[in-house]
Amino acid sequence: MLPTIEELLKEGERKELVKSIVQLQRIEKYTDPNDLLVQIERWGAWLINGAGWLHFDYSGPEDRAKGEIITTALAVDMMKVYAICKNAVPYVLRGTVPERWTEAGVEDADDIRARIKTKKINMGIGAKTYEEADVEKVEDAKRRARKAIKRTRVPLVNHEREMAKRLKTEPAARLLLARELQGAIRGAPETASAILCPACTRRSVWFFIEPEGKTSASCNHQNSCGWWGSLYDLARAV
Ligand SMILES: [Zn+2]
Repeated sequence: MLPTIEELLKEGERKELVKSIVQLQRIEKYTDPNDLLVQIERWGAWLINGAGWLHFDYSGPEDRAKGEIITTALAVDMMKVYAICKNAVPYVLRGTVPERWTEAGVEDADDIRARIKTKKINMGIGAKTYEEADVEKVEDAKRRARKAIKRTRVPLVNHEREMAKRLKTEPAARLLLARELQGAIRGAPETASAILCPACTRRSVWFFIEPEGKTSASCNHQNSCGWWGSLYDLARAV
């Protein structure tokens, strides 16, 4: 028999899971628990990859631990995580306190899985075939070429600041830097990885091409190295 959520997560960790889902719901105010579930799953993956909780830019060991809790819970018992999401929606929107966070009425697990899969496909995450992803890559490259970085005249003193700003906000500039640093570019959301780390000199730095919310670059070796910085820092370091 598979282990249960209670066996794999300590009581404190299960509370942490509920707290995190409620925190996310307080910000996003979803009306559909499926949306909340899809987003908590994304956050789990982001946290494990070195993002900081709810703001991306600073990440500590507690963020990674939270990522582990979220992904473990989803892998072991998605229905319980779904129940927490289903309770968190009315709790945040209307103050309805559930009797038990991990119970939320009878629903068919296959129905929920199907709904979540549809949502992900609509959002363009995690549910594409390789062929679809390839076609999109070509389309993306064309789109980026069309809106290649606009050259604006910038006084010399502002040049550095302008460059830092572009690297923070413009996908085209971020893609250029990723190529320049011989990063591997793949995935959805598109991610540059295997870039030389300025601190530990392994090819372990990654960042998102579309900055979304995590604009910074960070080293995958959270425990042994822990380097992170802006793309401007990264560009200047190598
Ligand atoms: Zn490193």
